[in-house]
Amino acid sequence: MNFDQLGLSPKVLDAVRAAGYTEPTPIQAKAIPAALERRDVLGLAQTGSGKTAAFTLPILTLLQKGRSRARMPRALILEPTRELAVQVHEAFSTLGKNSKTTVALLIGGVSFEQQDRLLDRGADVVIATPGRLLDHVENGKLMLHGVELFVVDEADRMLDMGFIPDIEKIYKLLPITRQTLFFSATMPAEIQRLTSTFLHMPETVEV
Ligand code: AMP
Repeated sequence: MNFDQLGLSPKVLDAVRAAGYTEPTPIQAKAIPAALERRDVLGLAQTGSGKTAAFTLPILTLLQKGRSRARMPRALILEPTRELAVQVHEAFSTLGKNSKTTVALLIGGVSFEQQDRLLDRGADVVIATPGRLLDHVENGKLMLHGVELFVVDEADRMLDMGFIPDIEKIYKLLPITRQTLFFSATMPAEIQRLTSTFLHMPETVEV
């Protein structure tokens, strides 16, 4: 399997080559074509499997058409910790270096003003931890009804950290027609319940 067979855009493929990736990992080979076909994806995968690029690359390709408006992102990525959110932000910088996609990182420990300015300029992608995301929504600084792509990453860690009620609150603010990419290393009952609500006929990828 080769990266050019997955349906990614030429700009994204150039960035993949520049990052030194020669072959897609198993989760990338299965999840990327499904995501590009606008299908929901349930990925059962650990950190180290290449799952970040499995959602970053199709998002960069899909967002090439169209633009976001201020305070209305088109893709929302939820991460359980600040550290993971920072890593995903770095992946977007590396893999999106040829794309015009704008990204805002919304995590705790950084001033609201700085994050507000980013949202004001118009971020196509928001990468956030659930609590800080809801703070921005509740302050009226961010609207989620333009979200086309919703990513829940490390769902089982979200559960361990008590974030499920926040994620359900966020989910209710999304439009009905969004596409969801959902990743978890394990499938406890509470996460299974969430996937049956969030995902519509997903492509399940287990690695
Ligand atoms: P992740 O599982 O997303 O945390 O990725 C683990 C590491 O693998 C990261 O450092 C990525 O940059 C790297 N990586 C992801 N996909 C590939 C690939 N197809 N080839 C080589 N390295 C990769």
